[in-house]
Amino acid sequence: MKIISETKGIERLAEIRAGFSRDIHDDFEHKAKPCAECETPGDCCLDAHFVNVRISRLEAAAIRQALDQLSPEKKYAVFERVENAIDRFDLTSTHDSAAKTYACPLFENGIGCLIHDTAKPLPCIAHACYEKKEDLPPDELLAGRENEIDDLNKRVYGRSAPLLPLPVAIRR
Ligand code: SF4
Ligand code: SF4
Repeated sequence: MKIISETKGIERLAEIRAGFSRDIHDDFEHKAKPCAECETPGDCCLDAHFVNVRISRLEAAAIRQALDQLSPEKKYAVFERVENAIDRFDLTSTHDSAAKTYACPLFENGIGCLIHDTAKPLPCIAHACYEKKEDLPPDELLAGRENEIDDLNKRVYGRSAPLLPLPVAIRR
């Protein structure tokens, strides 16, 4: 296996994300409620009983890189929210944290997801409010892309990276 740099890995990750976004957009999203018509925008990101996004080390590196583009003040506020979420929802890197849910610290009121265009995790790309269960993207579609990301983690870091709750994965 040829090891590649983290920078190269983040570039390749962006391609995987773009391909997955296209698949979701072209084949599924039109069957879901448009977010522009949502009466409670952000509920899907801030519902502490629902959000359970887990990401790998490379995805965390991509998110940190995206957050580096923010002003120092905004970045400070985001990482404060990250630490608060870890404390409040008792998130850890251990296995017993796997089922824990949290309100995502990357949601900014008035803006939405701060990494929407740059580093959004695959489960967030796949998520939408579908009325019919049969219209949802199949789990295998997400699993296939997540396997590609796992392979990419191995090529960058030399081994598989465990999936961690997003706040734990991106904390400084
Ligand atoms: S995914 Fe659902 S809850 Fe979230 S903004 Fe879109 S319509 Fe609203
Ligand atoms: S990463 Fe973005 S889309 Fe995903 S839960 Fe957080 S704010 Fe929402």
